[in-house]
Amino acid sequence: MRLYQPSEILIEQGEEDTPVVQRVLARVAEVPIRIVDKGWERETPPGDAADPFAAGKRRLLFTRQRSTFLEHCPAGTPGLVCCNYLVVSLISNCPMDCSYCFLQEYLANNPTLKVFTNVEDLLREVAAAVDRQPWRQFRIGTGELSDSLALDPVLGFSADLVPFFAARKNVLLELKTKSDCVDGLLTLDPQDRVVVSWSLTPPEIADSEEHGTAPFSSRLAAARRVQAAGYKLGFHLDPLIEYPGWEEGYRDMIARLFSTIDPRRVAWVSLGSLRLTPALRATMRRRFPQTRLLSGEQVPCADGKWRTFQALRVSMYRLLTGWLKEAAPKVPLYMCMETAPVWEKVFGRTPTCDKEVARTLIEPNFLSSPLAGEDEGGGAHRL
Ligand code: SF4
Repeated sequence: MRLYQPSEILIEQGEEDTPVVQRVLARVAEVPIRIVDKGWERETPPGDAADPFAAGKRRLLFTRQRSTFLEHCPAGTPGLVCCNYLVVSLISNCPMDCSYCFLQEYLANNPTLKVFTNVEDLLREVAAAVDRQPWRQFRIGTGELSDSLALDPVLGFSADLVPFFAARKNVLLELKTKSDCVDGLLTLDPQDRVVVSWSLTPPEIADSEEHGTAPFSSRLAAARRVQAAGYKLGFHLDPLIEYPGWEEGYRDMIARLFSTIDPRRVAWVSLGSLRLTPALRATMRRRFPQTRLLSGEQVPCADGKWRTFQALRVSMYRLLTGWLKEAAPKVPLYMCMETAPVWEKVFGRTPTCDKEVARTLIEPNFLSSPLAGEDEGGGAHRL
């Protein structure tokens, strides 16, 4: 994958000497740098480039997070089964440009890719939350408003996050990516507290719809490297895309995945349907007129998003969970943003509460089990 190259670096006054700014200035050469006033972004329109959203991705702004970092995952929408996931965002916006990305709507008028400099506040906030409830197991991810690792060669945040989470017993950090930027992880010791996860689609979809991401084969090679370095892995088959030949595409993808990595060190695999709001569909039509994703049969759902109609969704989930169970019988599976009736049809039951889904994914015996030759008691973790 090509290293991220900003068109311009903007530093809010007072943030010049923060560690992340100093790291970036040492790593990125020959880029115009400007010191801007606090709140500059609010006063600045997206610009008049042909594609202002794409141009904003290359304008790197350093600022402080003045609100809280720790939030509940927005996927916890009423009516959908929730997995009790928490998110923190040190970065807002993504250097890559998937045709289906919700950021096109969520950050539609955003003129920058924003990086928060006050990492120490994030760590303090997480420590306070998880130490207050030592009996509870938390899962916290950084991949909500950006890719967790694509900017790591430039920003180096993994060196702040991994040692912090590695030292705590009741929280797992998930770094979710479509990149192959894992070098910064390889010298750190995750102590079984960090899951590096990849979002995967079959190579033909990754090549045509996930612009600027690492090719499928590079993602697999990177997964193999971090697994060898002691990290747990996760995979997200999300969004599931229906296209001519999807059955073969997904079957081959799952076979290649589990012939490359060791399923005994996979913490979870999730599945999720393609879901698009009407506004996002309109943006996709404008920004990616060649996309194949708007030609499938989608229907509006209760949460306002359009999804593949239920019968086809269920048949995709059933086929894929069948192949996954064949290839990796003990790996916990779950679905993201799905309704209780769909859970019932795919897994034969609905979790009794959101904590039940979370528990199956973080049960400590599973996570502390050694790599070689042990029975991890996988039956207890299956949904
Ligand atoms: S990698 Fe994720 S955050 Fe980045 S553009 Fe693709 S969908 Fe959006």
